[in-house]
Amino acid sequence: MRKKLATILSAALLGGALWSVPGTAQAAAGERAPLVSARPSPAEVQRALTKIARASDGRVRLGVIGRSNEGRALRLASVGHGPTRLLFVTQQHGDEPLGTPAAIRALWTLGVPDTPWQRALLKRVTLDVVVQANPDGAVREQRYNHDPSASGDYSESGVGYDINRFHNPLTPIEENPVPESRAVLRLWHASHPKVVVDYHMQGRYLQPDGRETTASILWPTSPLAGDVTKSRQVAVRNYDAMTKLAGANVTRYPGGEYEGIARNAYGILGSASLLVELSDLPYDQIEFQIRTAYTSMLATVQGAADGSLWRADPARADAIPARGPALPGVTAESLDAAA
Ligand SMILES: [Zn+2]
Repeated sequence: MRKKLATILSAALLGGALWSVPGTAQAAAGERAPLVSARPSPAEVQRALTKIARASDGRVRLGVIGRSNEGRALRLASVGHGPTRLLFVTQQHGDEPLGTPAAIRALWTLGVPDTPWQRALLKRVTLDVVVQANPDGAVREQRYNHDPSASGDYSESGVGYDINRFHNPLTPIEENPVPESRAVLRLWHASHPKVVVDYHMQGRYLQPDGRETTASILWPTSPLAGDVTKSRQVAVRNYDAMTKLAGANVTRYPGGEYEGIARNAYGILGSASLLVELSDLPYDQIEFQIRTAYTSMLATVQGAADGSLWRADPARADAIPARGPALPGVTAESLDAAA
């Protein structure tokens, strides 16, 4: 069973069949996942999710976990009915979009074709995806949410808050000034996911061997997170899938210890937690980057379903190379995409 799932995942990822597992009735009927742009608008996201939910015959369920300051829906898509809960979050930073189209593909692959592969996964796991957690930032292509009254640490005056600094589990939720963060925190408390993966984008970085980093990952590094063995296992599994199946050059993200960062916060709360940062590569590599995130998502779901996540050697996380220095000539604007 384990081997079979791995074989099918590899086939799905390597066979060029991005939209569905090959051989399904849906593929034969010519159905395809809805295309969204690399920087989808909230309306595009809504249309794509609605189409997937319809095509899935109810296997993909849609919800709204809150509203942004401008009243935009914070969208949740869920698939599966298994006991192991997983949570993915995309685009907390509005100008770091590629996790969102990757999540839309992953939801299609998991929820629309109905083969033994999907059925095996979906009876073991329940996946919740907060798709485009920062819609107000997305429409402005800005990092922050939209809150001109924002003040204090991790805010930009006249602009808004950095959502990914407001997941602090030590702060009472009702005192948290960021509606997007409150919504994700409440979802965590309602679902207690075993695994949380948060998808971001970073600048461009060169390794000492002359190759460019295409993605970086990191587990919780807050001292409050305690034992992060399971987070490191998720990192190792993601490293293997992203490098071997997607061809990514993956390094270790140099992230901080602040407990308000989702990666740290959900580790402190007890989830196996991982940050995935896709590099801001040139336009002709956007498809490659979406595929990297999609591979990470499917590998995490499959690893949770078949238990292979928890057989990974956590010590191997230490062998993930440190991210190198910024690529010479990268503009300050690109570097703003960091973290
Ligand atoms: Zn980010």
